[in-house]
Amino acid sequence: MKVDYEKIGLKVGLEIHQQLDTSTKLFCQCKPELFKEEAEITFLRRLRPTQSELGQIDPAAYFEFQKGVKTLYEANRANSCLVEMDEEPPHSLNTEAIETALTVAVMIKAKPVDEIHVMRKTVIDGSNTTGFQRTCVVALDGEVIVGEKTVPIQHVSLEEDAARKMGRGRNATHYRLDRLGIPLIEVATAPSIRSPNEAEEVALAIGRILRATGKVKRGLGTIRQDLNISIPDGALIEIKGVQELELLSRVVNYEIQRQLELIKISNELKAMEVKEENINKEFIDVTDVFKQTKCKILRKTLDNNQQILAVKLPKFKGFLKRELMPSFRLGTEMADRACFWGRVDGIFHTDELPSYGITKEEVRNLRKTVEAEGQDVVVLVADKPENTKDALEAVVERACEAIRGVPEETRAARPDGTTRYMRPRPGAARMYPETDIPPVQITRENIERISSQLPELPEEKLESLMEEYKLNQKLAMHVLDSKYSQLFETIVRKGRTSSTTVAVFLTETLKALKREGVQVDKVSESQIQQVFSKIDAGELTKEALGDVTIWLSRHESQSVQEAIKDLGLEGISENELRKFVEKVIEDNKSLIRERGGNSFGILMGIIMKKMRGRVDAALVSKTLKEKLEGFA
Ligand SMILES: [Zn+2]
Repeated sequence: MKVDYEKIGLKVGLEIHQQLDTSTKLFCQCKPELFKEEAEITFLRRLRPTQSELGQIDPAAYFEFQKGVKTLYEANRANSCLVEMDEEPPHSLNTEAIETALTVAVMIKAKPVDEIHVMRKTVIDGSNTTGFQRTCVVALDGEVIVGEKTVPIQHVSLEEDAARKMGRGRNATHYRLDRLGIPLIEVATAPSIRSPNEAEEVALAIGRILRATGKVKRGLGTIRQDLNISIPDGALIEIKGVQELELLSRVVNYEIQRQLELIKISNELKAMEVKEENINKEFIDVTDVFKQTKCKILRKTLDNNQQILAVKLPKFKGFLKRELMPSFRLGTEMADRACFWGRVDGIFHTDELPSYGITKEEVRNLRKTVEAEGQDVVVLVADKPENTKDALEAVVERACEAIRGVPEETRAARPDGTTRYMRPRPGAARMYPETDIPPVQITRENIERISSQLPELPEEKLESLMEEYKLNQKLAMHVLDSKYSQLFETIVRKGRTSSTTVAVFLTETLKALKREGVQVDKVSESQIQQVFSKIDAGELTKEALGDVTIWLSRHESQSVQEAIKDLGLEGISENELRKFVEKVIEDNKSLIRERGGNSFGILMGIIMKKMRGRVDAALVSKTLKEKLEGFA
């Protein structure tokens, strides 16, 4: 879709949250790492907001609280202690994290505060055992330069990361405490970004500065980008949790598409004189209509003695199937709301019926029962009676909003760049001072020392990648922007593989594999390092890099050695190679006599077909040459 971003008045602000690679967490001595094993400790909690907080709490979280949703926490001893469990007050602020935040602040010309005050931000969704998240501003008013443009930075802050959500059951949400308390640096720009591409460029520039400190964690989930996107005729939408830089421009694009389409829908509804007061919260039990149904989902509801409830949306025919983003319609938007507020699994609506085993006849009866006219849409949900009503109320609410335009809300980013409803937009940040942690003074000496030891700036780093490792500019740029840039230096410094080979693999090859659907993030940095040390040891050839990576991504927690064995890549000795070459020569005697020197290429091909990945091509060539000379 072609959009004139300036004309529609697009404004985008970015918040980048990056985990820091400190030796301990932000407020205790625990290791800031995630665990994969079974939890050693589990405990159930139910958060109770205090009376004074009620008015300021995120309505969605309060709704869950009212419904009696509990939180099940999972923990192990290495990565959490009494602090994460809220059984012990937090310790003082991690100085390593402060230093890194100050380094970033100086690099982007932000002004450090005189004193760091830790604040509490109310969060009662269970992601924090305390019912709040601790956060503190470290510096204000910086800038990043992107091309010709200077983008203002509002603040640089430190935060504790939240507990890790593992899933949502009907009665309890599961969280792991390992991530809780990992230091996050937050860099927030002013809403002065004007196009999807610019959002990506600004994020890239900030990411380069963060990585330049050498103190940030790498890998999926260690960086999360939040966006606020607005257009004057639409609404201010917050989008949380974009994990990949490459997705940012797509996320912005889809959001613009969604808002423009919602504005169009609103105008059309208004032109048809559809009014909010005409949409009644009149819910009709239509269970009997589907008594004989062949639809599996509805059948299950009936067998469980649950209810099918319906509501009529006057003159909405056709609107629920309008696409807002790829495979995402206004109907999907209503379904998301119904699932969220009613805890149902989904909705059915007549814009997509008959389908799912629901017949024409049933649709006709349904319409008759709720007295729907030709231009009306009927929405139905099937679940327990206490859920169906909440679900349909949410659907009606969303329909009313469709008449008004774009509803303000917080949305969650998905891996394909589309977004889904997360919760209504909370009011202004609710902050209280954290009285358990003394303020930290930032002295002039502090700042002077940090300023005198600044890491290489990204542009300097680029120069040194080109000089020190003899990379061309394009490749050096790729390495600079890669999450593997540190790994690149480690591998090249330790090993013997050429820096270009390592760089091409870590950037271009891995990216290409990812595009093909290989889950390269499942291969750890230490595994990649091992692969290269096998190459250095002559136990593997660089031709096998791709195959080994694919294998490792599919066999989690298995070793590189096992990959080599399973792929039949176990190297062969020089002696074995010599024998094999002799045999190939023997088998192709007549060809060699006929073509003489010209047979070399054909023979190389035959040998490499069998030996690729197991032996270095240069060695094969040398051996073959020697043997051919002997033959002559
Ligand atoms: Zn701890």
